Order: sequence, then structure tokens, then C-alpha cells
Amino acid sequence: MRFRGGHNVLLKGRPDSAIRVMPEPKVLYLPLRSERFTFSDIQVEEGDKVKGGDVLAKDPDNHGVPLLAPRAGTVRLGAAENHIVLEDIAQSEEHADMVEEEMQHIEKQMGVAGINRYKLLSLGAWQFFYDAFTGELPDPLGTPQAIIVSTLSLDPFVARGDVQLHRRLLNFTRGLEQLQSLLEYQPIYLAMPNITSEFANLIRNQIRGYAWVKMLEKPLKYPFDNFAILARKLGFKSSNGPVWAVRTEGILAVDRALTLTKPCTVRILSIGGTGVSQPTHLKVVPGYPMQKIRDKYVFEPAARVLNGGVFTGGILTEEMLGVDVECRGITVLPELQEREFLGFIRPGWDRDSYSDSFLSSLRKDFRERLTTGLRGEGRPCVACNYCEEVCPAGIMPYLLHKYLYADLIEEAEQARIDLCVECGLCSYVCPSKIDLRTQFVEAKALIAKEKEEIRREQLRQEEARKREEEARKQAEENSE
Ligand code: SF4
Ligand code: SF4
Repeated sequence: MRFRGGHNVLLKGRPDSAIRVMPEPKVLYLPLRSERFTFSDIQVEEGDKVKGGDVLAKDPDNHGVPLLAPRAGTVRLGAAENHIVLEDIAQSEEHADMVEEEMQHIEKQMGVAGINRYKLLSLGAWQFFYDAFTGELPDPLGTPQAIIVSTLSLDPFVARGDVQLHRRLLNFTRGLEQLQSLLEYQPIYLAMPNITSEFANLIRNQIRGYAWVKMLEKPLKYPFDNFAILARKLGFKSSNGPVWAVRTEGILAVDRALTLTKPCTVRILSIGGTGVSQPTHLKVVPGYPMQKIRDKYVFEPAARVLNGGVFTGGILTEEMLGVDVECRGITVLPELQEREFLGFIRPGWDRDSYSDSFLSSLRKDFRERLTTGLRGEGRPCVACNYCEEVCPAGIMPYLLHKYLYADLIEEAEQARIDLCVECGLCSYVCPSKIDLRTQFVEAKALIAKEKEEIRREQLRQEEARKREEEARKQAEENSE
């Protein structure tokens, strides 16, 4: 499989391979929003005593995906805006909060495979699944063309697959077997790095026994773990239905839900970046107080904290009090507060750049210290072509930028902005510091909104036409 573009990003602050267990909290702050989910259908009341695994809320727009109580505790609904707060936290036997009637209904319709899919949804494992093309949550009762499983996480500072797999290889292979039992004949592709190490060889040997798993070995370049890129490279077309995509943590969750019938309420997340005292991995439950994590690991007084990796993570605001159910990592970058006078012409070994500028061409690659200032200051496009060179989607980011800058949305559509996978590599390498990714994300959202409005208008007109037709027929019948 040939990839284009990509870049091996070397940054300081990479999480080490340990998993540290955070101390048990006294209070949990469960955010009602995460990147894909909005848990607006609250299932509990103020003062309710809940057990670990109970459903607190559901997202009605995402197949009813549940927000589970990670621990036993007392529900406080109004204590923090956009959160369910659990007080008097206690560890108790977790239980599977599943509705018997729904299970019977699904079993009649879909048999054991249907029950297993219902379990994945109810026990919180389905939250780890993506539609490779759209990034949305797929329909748990739907049929995919194929499944892509990735053990790689190449966005710097998100939880690493190898760390999560360590000592849990058996759970992982059991999870793959469970996943395969949900399918009829659809293939499972396992993406892993094309490296030789003892652990990588162990995984290869383990997987070789599974004829139904096809291995995809990929170079360690960002963003070759992107599911949309992988699905396209494999030749799948979105018009033929979804391709399910899931990472290491998702397969481990499948194992937990289907082998043990236990809720998936623990997350392994990373904390990395140059504003962190000890970049590492943390074992926490959703709702874990952010402040406790900041107090322990963030040493920079002026730091920007991101929810996610350095390329795609959004700024974590003070209003978000706890870890959300989709968090894969926390990135902390020092805020650049002062700029050096004429810094852009001062030569130096420490100037990090995608291009060989300053003295960087004379030294070997090394892990660089990234701040929010990145390097340089905003200026117009200098037509260096770096963005096109690294873009994994084979489009021309500078051209899209030019069109969008001039509000030429149709031209941007013709230049295939839809193929952009929002990886952010173009923004990273751009020497003019143009935030290309944000521009493309906003433009794609605008185009999607306009298309949706046109679709609704067409639907409305079609319904009006049908009503008129029926009224005309009725009038004709009455006159006869
Ligand atoms: S954000 Fe889009 S345009 Fe930029 S490199 Fe990634 S895929 Fe290409
Ligand atoms: S990387 Fe930046 S400056 Fe270079 S061509 Fe692309 S948009 Fe222009």
C-alpha cells in the first residue's frame, strides 16, 4: 500500500510507556458533551444513588449511546453546568445496566450477533467505534464493508497503542475474535507499524494465526493512522456503506463487554507536551477532576491545555471540569509570551522547522520543543509548496486557502476540499503560520450545512407537491 505525504513529527514531551493509576477521586464531574456526543437525555434525578455501570444519560442522536456511572455515588444535576456530578464516590461491584425487553426484542430480530451488538452499545464499548469516512459513530446494528483496527496513534501526545497493548495482548486477540463473531464475511484489517521490535514481532506472530485478519504495515509517519486515508487506500467507497474503525482501546473494550459482560468505564489517556513535568499515561475514569491532573502534571504557569493531540485537539476550557468519555490525551504547550527581536533571521540549532532552515540542515533529526508560538509569525502564503508535499489526501492546501480567502466556495469544492481529513499537518509545516486546517474545517462545515439546507428544501417542496397532487385527486373524486 503506497501512501503519499505525511511527516515524521519529532517533538519533545512524548509520553513514556508507563501507565500510572491516579488516586481515587471524591467527586466525579462527568461532562455531558464530548467531541461526538451530547448526552441530553438524562436518565437520573437529583439525589439518586447510582451504582457503577448505571446509565446516567443517553445521546438520542447517536443511537442512544450511554453515559455510564464509572463509580457508585450520589447524583447532583445542578452542581456544575453541562456536567453530571457524582458525590460520595465509592467503589462497588460494577453491573451491566441492560434492558431485558430490548434484549429479547433484538434477539428475536437478529439472534446472538444482535445481542452482542446491543451489549457493546449498552456497556460503553461502542463509543470507541468510528465510521472511517465520516468519523461519526456508526449504527451498531448496521453492516460494515470491513473493519479497520489500528494499533497506531501517530498524533503526538495521544495514548499510544503499544502502551495499552502491553500485558494485554491476550485480551486484544480475544477482542478481535469477539469482533469477528459479529460479522459474516467482512474482512478485518489490522494496521500496525512497519518496525522490528520484540513486541511488534510478538503481535505479528500472534495475529498470523488468524486467517481472517489482514495485516497492514505502515511507516511511522503522521497521519498514516487516519481511518479515512486507510479506507481510501484499501479501495473502499463511502457509497457502498460504512467501514467501521476502532483503535486498540476499542478492541480491549469489546473484550471486556462481550467476554466479561462488564461496563467499559476506564480510560487510558496520555498527558504530554513540553508543559508537562512527567509525560506519561494515566488510568482514570471519565469524570476524573481535571484540576487534579493539572495540579499533578502541568508545571508551566502559562500553558495552553488541549483535549487531544497537538494537531487535532481543541483547547480545553476552564469550564470543563472532568475527563470526558472520548478523551485520548491531554496536551500541554507553553504559551509563547515574548518573541525574539528579528528571531526569524537569527541562525540557531534549536530552530524547529519542517524545512531545512537556519542551521537545522546540518544536524540530525531530534525531538523539538513545541510552544504555542510554533515558529515565525503569520504572513501571506509564500508559495513554498510544503503543505502540498505533506498532505496525505493529495489535494493542494495553498490553492484551497486562496479560494476560501476570496470566498470562492464552489472553486474550493472543485479543488476537492471534501477529501481533506483534517489532520492539520499543512498548518504545522506552513512557514507563514496560516491556520489552514481550521479554515478547511469551517469551510467543510459550511458546505455541509448548505447542502443539508438544500436537501431539506427539496424535501419540503416534494412534500408540498405530493400534498397538492393528493388534494387535486381528492377534488376530482369529489366532483365525480
Ligand atoms: S488538514 Fe487537510 S489539507 Fe491539510 S494536510 Fe491534512 S488532509 Fe491535507
Ligand atoms: S505551506 Fe503555507 S506558505 Fe507554503 S504554500 Fe502552503 S500555505 Fe503557502
